[in-house]
Amino acid sequence: MAYQFDVITLFPEMFDAIKNFGITQRAFKENIVALNLWNPRDFTEDTHKTVDDRPYGGGPGMVMLVEPLAKAITAAKNAQNEVGNQDVKTWVLHLSPTGKKLNHQKVMELSKYEQLILLTSRYEGVDQRLIEEFVDEEISIGDYVLSGGELPAMVLMDSIIRQLEGALGHHDSALEDSFVNGLLDCPHYTRPESYKNNKVPEVLLSGNHAKIKAWRLKMSLQRTRDLRPDLLAERPLTKEEARLLKELDADGINSVES
Ligand code: SAM
Repeated sequence: MAYQFDVITLFPEMFDAIKNFGITQRAFKENIVALNLWNPRDFTEDTHKTVDDRPYGGGPGMVMLVEPLAKAITAAKNAQNEVGNQDVKTWVLHLSPTGKKLNHQKVMELSKYEQLILLTSRYEGVDQRLIEEFVDEEISIGDYVLSGGELPAMVLMDSIIRQLEGALGHHDSALEDSFVNGLLDCPHYTRPESYKNNKVPEVLLSGNHAKIKAWRLKMSLQRTRDLRPDLLAERPLTKEEARLLKELDADGINSVES
């Protein structure tokens, strides 16, 4: 059964970006993933299809109304209960700068859920009572503010889709990505062998797979040590990694300078 996303959004057309390009497009075509879009304006009852109002207490901006969002989320839940896996709890996520910051562990956890409802908001955000009643979790994609939750929702969807079985042509490539084993990815090279006198590292042309593997691990360690030491501090090192790190220290090369 396809992984089911239901997204609540005032701008459903924005999701063409994820449906119509690259790896995610293929995942939709191959029914690895499915998407329903719910516009809160379709759940309003006035002629202006109002979805927002001024904030109590005053101040700038508008706040999204509870009622249209509550109806849209309920409709999405009902649809998931009809077609989805009955044993899987429907999980409602609100994309918000005040949420927990997204990382690889969270993506892996969410990729096991099979169905998600993503609430994207606009303006100053959503009436807090809607969040208290319907939202299970709030997720931020970083410490900065965007104009709406659609791009964050697509960031989350893309990161989940990459982890679904069959979504990547070469499944191993997801296993070698940054963060998967707690390290940054190594540098990559392709033709030509020499570009402006800058040569591809010799070892990559050697055909010696064991040596290439060790070099790639060493480069991953070097990058992580120099650019994201916090990641190294979070995980124990294997014997091989500890040895390669010692070698790197002895070499005295730093990725930031090189
Ligand atoms: N007043 C809010 C604040 O300061 O936290 C910002 C509202 S923002 C202009 C409008 C919407 O964009 C948010 O409600 C959220 O859905 C989305 N959004 C903006 N930045 C985001 C981020 N870093 N992560 C996830 N969603 C974000």
